Amino acid sequence: MKKLIGIDLGGTTAKFAILTEEGEIQQKWSIETDIQNEGKNIVPNIVESINHHLNLYGLSSKDILGIGMGSPGTVDSEKGTVIGAYNLNWNTLQLVREQIEEGTGIPFYIDNDANVAALGERWKGAGEDGADVVFVTLGTGVGGGIIADGNLIHGKVGAAGEIGHIVVEPNGYQCTCGNQGCLETVASATGVVRLARDFSERYAGESELKWLIDDGQEVTAKTVFDQAKKEDKLALIVVDKFYFYLGLACGNIGNMLNPETIVIGGGVSAAGDMLLNGVEEYFQKFAFPTVRTSTKLKLAQLGNDAGVIGAASLVKKSSNC
Ligand SMILES: [Zn+2]
Repeated sequence: MKKLIGIDLGGTTAKFAILTEEGEIQQKWSIETDIQNEGKNIVPNIVESINHHLNLYGLSSKDILGIGMGSPGTVDSEKGTVIGAYNLNWNTLQLVREQIEEGTGIPFYIDNDANVAALGERWKGAGEDGADVVFVTLGTGVGGGIIADGNLIHGKVGAAGEIGHIVVEPNGYQCTCGNQGCLETVASATGVVRLARDFSERYAGESELKWLIDDGQEVTAKTVFDQAKKEDKLALIVVDKFYFYLGLACGNIGNMLNPETIVIGGGVSAAGDMLLNGVEEYFQKFAFPTVRTSTKLKLAQLGNDAGVIGAASLVKKSSNC
């Protein structure tokens, strides 16, 4: 049996894994991402690290079916190129596939990082290898990936699955994309805090969360959810608004795609079952009856491994096995 290599390329580290064709991780490692010199060292460092580790584990390029990678920026998966990955300082077109195939002698496949994480959760995580899975990730921003009828949906120019820019509040907060009221403005880590500060100003009752905010203490999305767990009145109002927005977005995603599963992941989802149940309540309200009973909301299961596992699955998909 041949093996797969999955790479999850990010602005601070590149994570690597060697996996079986069934998607079991056998080895994992990571290197720092060197974004100096317009990110010119990133690909050579990846090549060197792969060759070094294959050597370390007594493997050769012939043992590897292919390398898959998730990358930030605008990815052309057909051509194997990336442009506009600003956290890597990749402002100009990067011929990633050409360099990695030349440096390793192994076939290479690439897609956008959020899409790749969606593929990971779908293959080995909460998606249970289903043909219709949507992944929503709540982190610094809100991202997503859509798998419909077994295919990753890219759209005309690769912008499909940008769930963070679903408008949930017309005339709402300003989004980095230029529009107002996008899901990202209220459901990202900073979005939750923004909601908390806004509601705190108008709240006159007893609340530890309000006291923390007024006292200038550091308040994060975790603080808000922790306070809600302790039944802080202001925190309960804030998380309810968050559930409403995310439930509205998930209801509309369900009404459009009727996936088997909508998987919710990312740092904010660490709030766990409380969050899932809260979102489910509004999802039930906004999804129409057929979707309500057939589309399930679940929490992501793979954490940081979703990226490398999903990246490796690009190889499986492309080699048709
Ligand atoms: Zn937006």
